[in-house]
Amino acid sequence: MAASLRAPRGTRDRLPEEAAAWARAEGVAAELASRYGFERVDTPLFEAAELFVRGLGEGSDAVAKEMFRVGGAAGSEDANAAWALRPEPTAGIVRSYLEHGMHVRPGPMRFWLVGPMFRYDRPQAGRYREFTQWDVEVIGDPGPAVDAELIELATRYCAAVGLEGTRVHLNSIGDAVCRPSYRSALVDYFTAHRDALDADGRRRLEANPLRVLDDRALDPELAAGAPKSIDHLCPACAAHFAAVRGLLDRLGVGYVLDHRLVRGLDYYTRTTFEVFPTGREGSQDALAGGGRYDGLVEALGGPPTAGIGFGVGLDRIVLAMSDGGIPGLPAPALVVVVGTEPGDVAERLVVANALREGGLRVRPDGSERKLGRQLESAAKLGARWAVIVGEELTRGAVVLRDLADGSQREVPISEVAAATRADDQ
Ligand code: AMP
Repeated sequence: MAASLRAPRGTRDRLPEEAAAWARAEGVAAELASRYGFERVDTPLFEAAELFVRGLGEGSDAVAKEMFRVGGAAGSEDANAAWALRPEPTAGIVRSYLEHGMHVRPGPMRFWLVGPMFRYDRPQAGRYREFTQWDVEVIGDPGPAVDAELIELATRYCAAVGLEGTRVHLNSIGDAVCRPSYRSALVDYFTAHRDALDADGRRRLEANPLRVLDDRALDPELAAGAPKSIDHLCPACAAHFAAVRGLLDRLGVGYVLDHRLVRGLDYYTRTTFEVFPTGREGSQDALAGGGRYDGLVEALGGPPTAGIGFGVGLDRIVLAMSDGGIPGLPAPALVVVVGTEPGDVAERLVVANALREGGLRVRPDGSERKLGRQLESAAKLGARWAVIVGEELTRGAVVLRDLADGSQREVPISEVAAATRADDQ
């Protein structure tokens, strides 16, 4: 096949084989979001690029190097429009929150969404250009209780999809009061070690010095010796961080302090955290990441408003489930409706609908082949049951055939669903 007709680099098709794992990953997300009092929002997959520039900062990798830019149709008035595919969900959710006047509703607001994000990064294992996140955001809650609640939720999610061995990395990066002194301590440190930085590290040092620390290529010894943000917190940030740690202890959520966890995004303040599979704690292994962004709502034109959220990388969750042999949510057993007569196709469709109304998963065989061939095809499709439409239909009944052992019996249509379930026990 011509290369141009293949899925673009860094994207993947979600094939039917993976559907059960995705159903579980997304189903658990929806279920937990609801149980923690979150409400679903969906924002557009593309927004004004300006939103991300203002929300993430010009110096962030997401804006400087990784943004997929989008224009309108050639020749249209939008041909040169400066849109971008969303690299992350928070800026869009905050934009929506402000645009729809949700800041005047009684808060705090709790939102969640699941959907694709786009980053023009170098594709590798677990790092794609299109990937799916489950994201939760709380806007208007200064914490610290909600910080602990969200960190606990992220770990609970991993456990609920079957990933038991995870570890939280935690840090606080201060706020507008104390970050400047930390930033200058970092600049002094890395300027003194400039020779040990590569070109990218030097670019980060100029544009966004905190990002030098979470550079994947940074020499670990140099990183270990760098000033730590938690040693530079102002009293208010220090008290907040101590409270978050105390609450995590009360909730029984273990964590390790990780001073390299500075997050790439300018609007983050105070608490930052990531969740890793235990023992695989490199930056590209993170299952989830999040933190507080008390500066974002204001940066996007709203009133000063606290915020906190996290995103879980569902592609990585599904990969980890399959590596660990963790089953997904299997679809219900398949029933194929076949017929004894080539002319009874309409009856098969009618019977199929009746069975679907009873909650079964049903595919009718619409062919005019002999019954035996239809049954062979049903078995090849992986069907558990065949429902044979024949002369019993005059009595409101069909023949239910167990494709596992070939046994069959007459059953009233209204009792087929119950009969298959009873046998599945
Ligand atoms: P971030 O907003 O970068 O903290 O991302 C949150 C989570 O999304 C990460 O912990 C990953 O699990 C996932 N993620 C981020 N970038 C990618 C990517 N390029 N490909 C796959 N998953 C990603």
